[in-house]
Amino acid sequence: MDQTHVAGEIEADQVLLTEKQVLDRLGEMAAQIEADYEGKDLLLVGVLKGAVMVMADLARSLNRHVEMDWMAVSSYGSGTKSSGVVRILKDLDTDIKDRHVLVVEDIIDTGLTLSWLITNLKSRGPASVEIATLLRKPEAVTMDVDVTYVGFDIPNAFVVGYGLDYDEKYRNLRCIGTLSPHVYS
Ligand code: 5GP
Ligand code: MG
Ligand code: MG
Repeated sequence: MDQTHVAGEIEADQVLLTEKQVLDRLGEMAAQIEADYEGKDLLLVGVLKGAVMVMADLARSLNRHVEMDWMAVSSYGSGTKSSGVVRILKDLDTDIKDRHVLVVEDIIDTGLTLSWLITNLKSRGPASVEIATLLRKPEAVTMDVDVTYVGFDIPNAFVVGYGLDYDEKYRNLRCIGTLSPHVYS
């Protein structure tokens, strides 16, 4: 639980969500997903790399059989904002025709990447495509894609931990927090 070596760069008052808060909420989302997909087979699709932790804990919170598959996409944007122009780096191994697909995401900011992904997946003829995300930022609320399962609506700040990176670091942090300004400089 003590991750002083990495967490030292996150001030105590900048911890947005503790590991317990995240796991408790994923448990609630899992209960809802179990009810909604009762009697149907379910394929969880994780978006690499950020969704790795969410996928691991959400899938293990589900008291039923699920399959898991992964996609990696790269979103071209200027600087830190995504543009909605997306390239598939790793496609699914699974044929999703007639399958119930639940896309598992770490965070939705503008929603541009996800919007492209959903259109792409729907073109493959699945029985259904829904979205579960642990975190959602304010801008995403205005996007034209419905998000069925949302863990937490968070303020418009750059967060790291629990799969989310800054320059590929902090993904292994158990909590979710904002970075101290000195880390950037
Ligand atoms: P969108 O297309 O929704 O604007 O971008 C979503 C992607 O941007 C996420 O999957 C994530 O990789 C990255 N992203 C957006 N907001 C944050 C954030 O606050 N922290 C981190 N680490 N990545 C973010
Ligand atoms: Mg993501
Ligand atoms: Mg990243």
